[in-house]
Amino acid sequence: MTLQLDDRQRALLAEMGIKLWLPKAAPATPEIVASGADSTGAEARSDAESAQSASAVAPATRAPAAPSAPRVRPAAPPQSAAPEPQSAMVLGPRPEGVADMDWSQLEAAVAACRACGLCAGRTQTVFGVGARSADWMVIGEAPGENEDRQGQPFVGQAGKLLDAMLAAIGLSRQAEDAPESVASSAHPAGAEGQKVLKRGVYIANVLKCRPPGNRNPQPDEIAQCEPYLRRQVALVQPKVILAMGRFAVQSLLQTTEPIGRLRGRVHQYQGVPVIVTYHPAYLLRALPEKAKAWQDLCLAMEVMRGSGGG
Ligand code: URA
Repeated sequence: MTLQLDDRQRALLAEMGIKLWLPKAAPATPEIVASGADSTGAEARSDAESAQSASAVAPATRAPAAPSAPRVRPAAPPQSAAPEPQSAMVLGPRPEGVADMDWSQLEAAVAACRACGLCAGRTQTVFGVGARSADWMVIGEAPGENEDRQGQPFVGQAGKLLDAMLAAIGLSRQAEDAPESVASSAHPAGAEGQKVLKRGVYIANVLKCRPPGNRNPQPDEIAQCEPYLRRQVALVQPKVILAMGRFAVQSLLQTTEPIGRLRGRVHQYQGVPVIVTYHPAYLLRALPEKAKAWQDLCLAMEVMRGSGGG
């Protein structure tokens, strides 16, 4: 694929830490499957919230000659002294008719949901954000601490990287779906008062409530929450979905295959093309993988162009 990049896109890619001379063949990097290092998981979501520093969007032009292996999440999450809510315990039925709800009914149903134990620990539900008729939809894993507090998906360090990645392909969670001017404070052009045209994107998670201690989502929690996400996708009717991280990918595609084996192909969810990519929280810990994430974004742009979308 030939990419035509203007100066603004080049600057944004630099912000994202993507080198412009991408190698033809992706460098061999260790693929971690069992550890879930290609997902967010507990560690990654807490990484996203910890003081990972501004390196979230710092250029990765100083990629080490011999990249160190990504950190591997410990097999078992640290045991917390406090008893955790039993996620298997159904505290209340999920409302009927989710598949037919409109946006306000759906949002209210999610806010009131007590269908799994996660409701006991949440500050609030995290429904989704962005343009509700966007061509692009991003699906992540679950709210972390910041998201639980603020009620919005991807607001930590991982969210900053996500926003930079989206900006690199002309998307903004603030924009309506039709291209509109958005002042970019993160970008030098914005600082000079220039406006850049951005398209909208809708961002949601597989889970709407924060897992305690940022632990991994459990299968029963994903199963209880899935109808809400399914309805969000049906309402948005995106032309492409970017599935980010192992839990989003595996639950949308109903597979246990690792991300590394699913990337580079177009999958489907409810008839919508799905592009699989790494979670931004993982990219914060595995900078060399950003080049692969950029390849995934390029594939998503190709799919979008093929569908006639912008
Ligand atoms: N990770 C996710 O997958 N979603 C969020 O909203 C935040 C971190």
